Order: sequence, then structure tokens, then C-alpha cells
Amino acid sequence: MYQDCKKKGICLLSMLTVLAISVESAWAEGAGNAKSVFDECQRIGNKLGSVSVQQCLKAGMKDTGARSVNGQALLLKEYPPLLKRRQPLGRVLLIGGTHGDEYAATSIVFKWMKILDTYHSGLFHWHVAPLINPDGLLQRHSLRLNAHGIDLNRNMPTPNWHEETSAYWKKTGHDPRRYPGIDPLSEPESQWLYDEIRIFKPHAIVSVHAPYGVLDFDGPPVGPDHLGHLHLKLIGIYPGSLGNFAGVQHRIPVITVELPYAGIMPSRQQTSKMWTDLVHWLRYNIPKQETLAAYPLFEPIHKRMLSEQIPLHEGLN
Ligand SMILES: [Zn+2]
Repeated sequence: MYQDCKKKGICLLSMLTVLAISVESAWAEGAGNAKSVFDECQRIGNKLGSVSVQQCLKAGMKDTGARSVNGQALLLKEYPPLLKRRQPLGRVLLIGGTHGDEYAATSIVFKWMKILDTYHSGLFHWHVAPLINPDGLLQRHSLRLNAHGIDLNRNMPTPNWHEETSAYWKKTGHDPRRYPGIDPLSEPESQWLYDEIRIFKPHAIVSVHAPYGVLDFDGPPVGPDHLGHLHLKLIGIYPGSLGNFAGVQHRIPVITVELPYAGIMPSRQQTSKMWTDLVHWLRYNIPKQETLAAYPLFEPIHKRMLSEQIPLHEGLN
């Protein structure tokens, strides 16, 4: 009897200990996430002239749990469906800061989040990640590439990736600013993007760059003629680019906004006009079934890696 009670006591004690540890680790995890958002907002606010630390914190982004090469958090803000009011017309993924030296491409996404904070009506279900290459931007001399020196917009898994990126790399005269890496999805940032698309299943993707001052479009149906002062001009298809991967291969519309300057923000009026035009285009043109047909073809990354035959890669050494 005594032995039983003792055992029960020990059991109870162990259970309480386990419970305490789980609560503590859950708390630590939550606190860690809040801390990573706080720390990154300090760095973003100190780096970008158009985004203050306060504005970044106020945006209410969450830590996705994914990390850059240097361990910085990839942050995302969700504007969910407001079910009681209306069913969203579709899911839209909006990303900025793929290239770390295109400052305006992150700043403008913060401005658009501010508009969404006020006006999100549930028309679309948004996932917004203003800075998918934090290592590129958040350093003394910001760089286009990630911390491994790889162009994330050449690292997406497009068909015949090895052959085509190799040929492209030669064509650019081995331009280090366009280095695609040794394998598709070799980078944690591009892996995160691939998984985000696979899991969120957006009906359209909007990706912001600079400084070509145009609008590019890949995929169905036909892109917007203009967003604010930016006009549609198809600037070509590159092996390993997001437009090629999602738009051309998977038929998910990708709107690439190329702002006119990397270091100067469009005016407040242009920023808001671009947004209004974007929402208008999405409202009347966002495809449905056609896009969703793509997603069964997406495999989890570890499966992709296992099934991929990686040939000897000439020309990228
Ligand atoms: Zn770019």
C-alpha cells in the first residue's frame, strides 16, 4: 500500500515535472519567437529610412520558424479570411526583399501592410513576407545575394535546372550577382519560399523588386496593364526564377513589381495607387481552378531532394 502511494507520489511528481518543463519550453519558444521578431525589427528599423522600428513592430509579423543562412528569422504577417463577413476571393502571397540591396522592395511592402492593417476586409486571404532575404539586407553593406552568395531568384526548381542555370551563368559572364548555386533549393530562404507556396497554395503571387521600373508577369491569365505608374513589360524568363517556377511551370500567376529605384521609395500617392490597381486586378482576374491544379504536383522538399538525380555540375565551380 505504502509502496503504491509512494509510486503514485513519484508518478505525480514526475507528471508535474514534465508538465512544468513543457509549459516552460512552450513559454520559452513563444518568448523566443517574440524576441526574434523584436530583434529583427530593430535591425530593419535601423537599416531602412522608410520603416521605423515601431512601424515594424506594429506590423504584427510572426516568426515562421524558418531561418536564413545566418540564423535570422523569416517573418510573415497573415491577414486571414473574415469568415463572418465574406469568403475571400482567393489567397495571395506577397513577398519583398528577395534581393537584399533593393531597399525599396521591402519598404513598400511595409507601406502596403499598413494599408491592409486599416482596410483588410476579407476580400483576399493574404500572406505577406516583406523580407525573405534578411541576411542580404541587414548588414553594413547590403547585398543582392544571400549569405552563401547565391541569387535566391535563380535557386527555384525549374526544369533542367542544372543545364539551364549553367548555360545562363556562362551567358552572364559568370556574374557573381546572378550565381544560382550548385543545386535548386539549396538555400534555406528558397526552401522556405517553396514550402510556403506548397502549403499556402496561393492563387496569385506578388513579388517586389527594383530598379527596372516596370511590371513583369508570368502565368495565366494576362497580367495587369499597369500598377500605378508601372507598365507591363515582359522582361524575360530566367532559369531558377520565381516567375519561371511558379508562373511558367505551375501556372500560378506571378506579378513582379519592379520599382524604379532600389534606394528611393515611390511617392505616397504612387504607393497607394499601385496598391489599389493591384487589388482591382486581383479582384477581377484571379484564376481559381487553373491555379489549384498545380499544387498536387508539389512535393515536400525532402522528397524532392531524394528523388532528384544530381548530375555533375560543370561550369559552376
Ligand atoms: Zn531583384
